[in-house]
Amino acid sequence: MDIAIVGGGAAGLATAIFAARRLPGAAIVVFDSARRPGAKILVSGGGRCNVTNRVVTAGDFWGGDRRVIDSVLRAFSAADAAAFFGELGVRLHEEADGKLFPDSGSARDVLRALLDAAARAGVELRSGSRVASIQPAGAAGIKVQGGDWSETARRVVLATGGLSLPKTGSDGGGLSIAASLGHHVIPTTPALAPLVLEGTFHTRLTGVAHDAAVSVSGDGLRTVTLRGALLWTHFGASGPVVLNASRHWHRAKIEGREVQVRLSFLPALDFAGVERFLLDMAAARPSAMLRTILADHLPAAVAASLPETVDLDPDRRLAALTRGGRRRLAHALVAWPLQVTGSRGYNYAEATAGGVALDEVNRGTMESRVCPGLFLVGEMLDVDGRLGGFNFQWAWSSAYVAARGLDLASKGERRDD
Ligand SMILES: Cc1cc2nc3c(=O)[nH]c(=O)nc-3n(C[C@H](O)[C@H](O)[C@H](O)COP(=O)(O)OP(=O)(O)OC[C@H]3O[C@@H](n4cnc5c(N)ncnc54)[C@H](O)[C@@H]3O)c2cc1C
Repeated sequence: MDIAIVGGGAAGLATAIFAARRLPGAAIVVFDSARRPGAKILVSGGGRCNVTNRVVTAGDFWGGDRRVIDSVLRAFSAADAAAFFGELGVRLHEEADGKLFPDSGSARDVLRALLDAAARAGVELRSGSRVASIQPAGAAGIKVQGGDWSETARRVVLATGGLSLPKTGSDGGGLSIAASLGHHVIPTTPALAPLVLEGTFHTRLTGVAHDAAVSVSGDGLRTVTLRGALLWTHFGASGPVVLNASRHWHRAKIEGREVQVRLSFLPALDFAGVERFLLDMAAARPSAMLRTILADHLPAAVAASLPETVDLDPDRRLAALTRGGRRRLAHALVAWPLQVTGSRGYNYAEATAGGVALDEVNRGTMESRVCPGLFLVGEMLDVDGRLGGFNFQWAWSSAYVAARGLDLASKGERRDD
């Protein structure tokens, strides 16, 4: 066979389609361990698949060198992805924060369009075929081996994803294969995962959501501050701002650092601004209770619970607070410590941070610098996007670049980056 693609998720299927279009007549086979590939596409975006975002830049990603990410994204932009899906019959529309979803509201349509396009382009899909190892086989190409079978392909694309939601088939086995071929795998952690918290504050607020800012800081770390909706849950906290912050907590921990996560309930204000606001409110509404004033800006349950965490009675008049009490409250409002004990892990994570080192692939072709003839795409690389369609865009863009690389390689041409 000409091209073996290991992994038939978003990146693998897109690579197959793009490569088949560039190389008509080429024998392209996608191997996937799952009996029904594409399970992650089906569950994505709450079953609606957030295919991409109106604006995607390298700044929406973490992981390896942003110049490499930028170069790959520029080769196949979000607009290109929207046009590609439109051509496959999946029209997209924009929702909040630039997220693009299929008009039908169904992730199933996205998967079906990809599978149909691959089949139309002559790609063979071998589902239920787990690849256990890959070995260079000299002039013949690269040997791809399963439990009781083996095939040799002229070129191989690794598209096995990260470790998030392992029941969909992405269990990290592909990372071990890459490592066995000499690749350096940056240690992985969950990303876009809900956080588990100590204490009982969150249990009283389960189901309550509000705008917040979350900052992650620690010794030797550049403080990262993120803003968005936070959702309190029975185990801790979730919602976009927490999911986006989770990778930073995990990366600090894996590096053995002390890490603090702080929450601002009033993200538009700093400490001085909150103190001024409390003073103004005390003057304007001298008989109003703490909880009443806070409830004008926060959910009532938070307004009732937060003062207690700093030993203040929510039914006390704000105007009666001492300076010390007012400062304690202001501090709780802008820098409330989130006592994170962990995340919900890969079973609940939407992405994986870490993966194959980005500087080990050619940014113009996605070909491995370590193992010629091997190409790497998608989430198995050291790239993780924030919430909002960015991780799929990385899959589409890297797939496009890999197909370009496969095309060049088949013509015996090179592209230096
Ligand atoms: C719940 C959830 C919701 C999400 N929602 C969104 C969203 O709305 N928008 C967005 O942009 N991103 C979303 N993501 C992230 C997005 O799904 C992934 O970034 C993307 O699917 C990665 O594509 P991939 O092809 O690299 O890997 P995967 O989709 O993980 O595909 C890898 C494939 O490789 C196969 N495989 C693995 N190992 C082997 C092996 N050894 N042999 C053969 N086959 C193998 C697996 O079975 C799998 O089919 C979500 C993720 C989750 C978990």
